[in-house]
Amino acid sequence: MSGSPFRAPVMWVTGNRWFRRMATGALGRPLASRFVAGETLPEAMVAAEELRGRGIATMLDHLGENVSAPEQAADAAKAYVRALEAIGGAGEGLDAAISIKLSQLGLDFSTELCVAHVERVLEAAAGVGRIVMIDMESHAYVDRTLAVFRDLRDRHDRVGVCVQSYLRRTASDVKELPPASMIRLVKGAYLEPHELVFTERREVDRSFRSLFVALIEAGHRVHVATHDPRLIEGAKQYVQRHGLDPSRVEYQMLFGIRRDLQRRLAAEELPVRVYVPYGAEWYPYLTRRLAERPANMWFFLSNLVRSGR
Ligand SMILES: Cc1cc2nc3c(=O)[nH]c(=O)nc-3n(C[C@H](O)[C@H](O)[C@H](O)COP(=O)(O)OP(=O)(O)OC[C@H]3O[C@@H](n4cnc5c(N)ncnc54)[C@H](O)[C@@H]3O)c2cc1C
Repeated sequence: MSGSPFRAPVMWVTGNRWFRRMATGALGRPLASRFVAGETLPEAMVAAEELRGRGIATMLDHLGENVSAPEQAADAAKAYVRALEAIGGAGEGLDAAISIKLSQLGLDFSTELCVAHVERVLEAAAGVGRIVMIDMESHAYVDRTLAVFRDLRDRHDRVGVCVQSYLRRTASDVKELPPASMIRLVKGAYLEPHELVFTERREVDRSFRSLFVALIEAGHRVHVATHDPRLIEGAKQYVQRHGLDPSRVEYQMLFGIRRDLQRRLAAEELPVRVYVPYGAEWYPYLTRRLAERPANMWFFLSNLVRSGR
């Protein structure tokens, strides 16, 4: 959470050129593999098949954000189409979606360019009967991300978007969502200006709970995307108490995090999906995972130093 006193110092360390060189070099890569399935699509597919074997669905994310040239946005769209082809080729038994970032698909260049790329990805997804979720990035992208989502939702059923409980604005944003949408609810992973976010953990959690109820009551399908056992338990109890159709709520976690909890929920026959990131541009993703937990940063640094001796 943005309010964590740890997030800013970790972002400062990971922004350092020396640290970045070490972390993305031969020493850091094996450590990053805890959070990233690999650099290639075949590696991501292996991870997806392994999770399928445990009764867990997946959502592939070809890592990359804030591309610096329009051609890179076109390449990212092609990478997603290839991922969907691979998923389709694996057959109906592989329940795998994909997740995209609009900044990776050219939102910084133009909304029209970005929408055109997303439409190509959505057509490929419709061809293989899969869904496409739009990640939520930092606060500067929220208005544009929601506007693109609303526009696409008019023409496509298989698209959903993420909302973040740490942002104060989200309670009012969710009132403007198109009816019966697919919404991923997360706490939020970016270092944001304090005035825009809830800074206390309990406020972020309270916002998460009330957004969950608001989204369900408004008729949306909700992806409860957290590793926080209390929030997951609260969602499970709500579903039971209100006799909701189990397909209204899915539990989602990140690759390599709380695998015990992933397995436990799958054993309870609840719908569980794991976000499987892959690709060469894994560093920004890794920095967010390090910033979420002091122990991760400590583990990463001590292993870098040890293996560098
Ligand atoms: C499927 C999915 C999609 C996501 N998509 C987005 C998105 O589009 N935009 C966005 O801003 N954020 C996204 N996130 C990240 C999210 O915002 C949080 O930063 C992240 O999930 C950590 O918060 P938490 O809800 O797990 O709760 P926390 O309170 O941070 O963590 C609860 C417990 O989970 C475990 N845990 C959490 N993080 C880690 C970690 N990095 N390493 C080891 N253990 C950990 C610990 O046991 C911790 O006590 C996504 C998360 C998931 C699960």
